[in-house]
Amino acid sequence: VSPEEFREYARSIEAMYADLLPNRDGHVADYIPTLRDADPEKFGIAICTADGQVFSIGDTTDEFSVQSTSKPFNYAIALEQLGPEEVHRWVGQEQSGGPFNDPNLSLGRDGRPRNPMINAGAIGTLALVDTGQDQSARFTTVRDTWAAMTGKRPELHGATFLAERDTGFGNVRFANGLMQANKLRGARPNDRRAPEDAVEFYTMICSLNLNAELLARAGATLANGGVAPSGERVFSPETAGRVLAVMGHSGMYDGSGEFSDQVGLPAKSGVSGNVMMVVPSEGLAVVTYSPRLDPTGNSVRGVEVCKRFVNEFGLHPYRGT
Ligand code: GLU
Repeated sequence: VSPEEFREYARSIEAMYADLLPNRDGHVADYIPTLRDADPEKFGIAICTADGQVFSIGDTTDEFSVQSTSKPFNYAIALEQLGPEEVHRWVGQEQSGGPFNDPNLSLGRDGRPRNPMINAGAIGTLALVDTGQDQSARFTTVRDTWAAMTGKRPELHGATFLAERDTGFGNVRFANGLMQANKLRGARPNDRRAPEDAVEFYTMICSLNLNAELLARAGATLANGGVAPSGERVFSPETAGRVLAVMGHSGMYDGSGEFSDQVGLPAKSGVSGNVMMVVPSEGLAVVTYSPRLDPTGNSVRGVEVCKRFVNEFGLHPYRGT
């Protein structure tokens, strides 16, 4: 992206921000206090290119728990550590749909969760990261990966973690289901604590605090074949490509199909109100933070920014301009 092009993007983002600020559609996630108490008026948009050009407007340094937007990166770490063949013995790569708290375990016929973007798949995927090591070492591996992408090691948000843990009965059920199907890597068959540990680790990763600017750097890493804006290689191009593929069909919960129709680019959203969209052709990422969600669990303003950005610059890969 040339500096002139980048200025165009920035101008357009600025206009979108002003235009969408009055949009108060949707509802803040209310299943735990820290999300319920989020200021619904918050709105920030950040873009970051492969070479580290950043533009941001609004509440882009306000922290939020990353939630489901951690899932693509868990998958990337697992792929780097084990390679695709081993990873996909444990978790599938087919489209899923479903809300974030889908009670459906969605294990395929072979007992694997459908993909790493749904909760069961994310729990199973995290079990692939540093399997057999202490939880604290595994937690450090994930945080270090975030640090390599963004330049900052994210902190755990304690209150979010505790609330997620104490209400995460669905996730415990998923982990038990994985255990029963023999899809929790490293768990001995009689280890009744294994599902609990798997959920705890998953919940901790969901509860890492990020902000829109940092998340844009992580997205730019995926947009740039696994090289962070700092120039550090974090993932192989193959890993980055695989992650984008699954984001492309299952990154936006129950809205993934419509999003693919209207935007056509890989994206991932989290219930805290973040949306991370990757534009591989331009080597950049667009990240929004706005806590009000639509009925499919995606940020209302966030999805709107994605649609407008793609339309304005003719970036929809399946539609001619
Ligand atoms: N922490 C949520 C859960 O596992 C996931 C949130 C999300 O989908 O962003 O229940």
